[in-house]
Amino acid sequence: MTTSIPRPDALAPTSPEAGTALIAQLAKELYAEFRRGSPGTADGKEVPAGTGTSEGLAGAYPTGANPVTPPVHPGVPPATSSASGNGAAGSGADRVPAFYFLHEPGAVGLSRVPAIAHVPSPSPTPVFDVERVRSAFPALHQAVNGRPLIWLDNAATTHKPQAVIDATSQFYRRDNSNIHRAAHALAARATDLYEAGREKVQKFLGAADAREIVFVRGTTEAINLVAQTFGRKFIGAGDEILLSTMEHHANIVPWQLLAEQTGAVIRVAPINDRGELILEQFAALLGSRTRLVSITHVANALGTVNPVEQIIALAHAHGIPVLVDGAQSVPHLPVNVQALDADFFVFSGHKIFGPTGIGVLYGQSKWLEQLPPYQGGGNMIRDVTFARTTYQSHPQKFEAGTPDIAGVVGLGAALDYVQGLGLPAIAAYEHELLAHATDALASVPGLRPIGTAVNKASVLSFVIPGIPAEDVGRHLDKHGIAVRSGHHCAQPAVRRFGLESTVRPSLAFYNTREEVHELVRVLQLLPKP
Ligand code: PMP
Repeated sequence: MTTSIPRPDALAPTSPEAGTALIAQLAKELYAEFRRGSPGTADGKEVPAGTGTSEGLAGAYPTGANPVTPPVHPGVPPATSSASGNGAAGSGADRVPAFYFLHEPGAVGLSRVPAIAHVPSPSPTPVFDVERVRSAFPALHQAVNGRPLIWLDNAATTHKPQAVIDATSQFYRRDNSNIHRAAHALAARATDLYEAGREKVQKFLGAADAREIVFVRGTTEAINLVAQTFGRKFIGAGDEILLSTMEHHANIVPWQLLAEQTGAVIRVAPINDRGELILEQFAALLGSRTRLVSITHVANALGTVNPVEQIIALAHAHGIPVLVDGAQSVPHLPVNVQALDADFFVFSGHKIFGPTGIGVLYGQSKWLEQLPPYQGGGNMIRDVTFARTTYQSHPQKFEAGTPDIAGVVGLGAALDYVQGLGLPAIAAYEHELLAHATDALASVPGLRPIGTAVNKASVLSFVIPGIPAEDVGRHLDKHGIAVRSGHHCAQPAVRRFGLESTVRPSLAFYNTREEVHELVRVLQLLPKP
């Protein structure tokens, strides 16, 4: 490497603009260097590392004509509504999952997959300038173990564009105050920023009303909130909660805690060998005792994109509400909660290029107004006496205590950034990259992909039999390549494939083909299994 990485204190910019310019310059130099090929990489040889109760549910939905025999795929009623959101609204034709058909159903071996799945775009795709995009992400431009960082751990968390860093730091530099209570200028400013963040999330998700947006710590807290409010109110002994095998632990354990408290029963819809939900079996598990379906939109360990529109339509045909875990979908796919008709939709800020510690629970007003508070404290009350306390209506009812105000500001900046690029353009770019990476990985001797769904996003889990996943992860790290190895907080999903851990590269829109090629090259340096 001829580009030296300045020490952080040498980077201290005199103004945000100067900081951005400096970062952009560094980004350019490092990336140009990387693309020319670092010393020791061009010949493909190894380079030494180290340099560097059931009330209230009935009647919630119009039930299907025959509640005993649920409609099953493919005769699933289509979702009907159309509303503006982050690009998903409208007719089926402009919904993005078309990008995600990587392989024809039934194609088993990766060798039968064409080099890149050429799927016609539903509309002309704007040019996606990945070099320009990368220059907005300071953390991408650093060396790790003497090599340019290649961040392929996006399913765990994403890096932040300068706009998010600036918005958060500006809040603390200028606007910092608690919200709602004090009547002074900074309190008003902070409150405006916080509520503007709520409106940004509303628009991003295509929700009908900003009051349907509740700020929480993240996906995990959002699901716990629903389990402890909706669950305690509507789910009793013997009632069922329907999950799937591919869920993150955050969408399993809160329901187990609820089941311990109430005597509810957890049912699990199975997946096939490609890691896809078996829709017929899912439909067959929807019964008269099912009180809630809670399912992921995109599976974090497998990359499977679930047909949530169909899942929701099937559940609603039985009068059953649905929670969608969108932690892994919102960074990659346009989502519109009204078009989906999701009852609850949850996601985390840090996985969509925003800060850690902030996340979102979307809930339809018809549910939020019925639910009891989650936690008690300041902000969520209307009046308190020792005899009796009354509560605010939603969303404040669920936001006890001082919230992460700067987190909301940063999340709003992240959503602005993502929407500036455009989710359809992001989805198209990532689809191409994922298809390319899937093919490229097939050239690694012995590599077995885990999760080969027809409809996938971002995630490229695999194992190389004979080499522990953790060893593969360490080997990649020595070359500056960050992936996650382990069970990915989805042990039932990984065990479905007879495994305890996998290696999981996961893509975001700032990743490139060159990075994928470097991943494959470094994997090829591993001893033959
Ligand atoms: N659900 C899914 C599908 C996830 O990928 C994750 C994070 N890996 C979570 C839930 C939990 O998210 P958080 O840790 O941000 O609460």
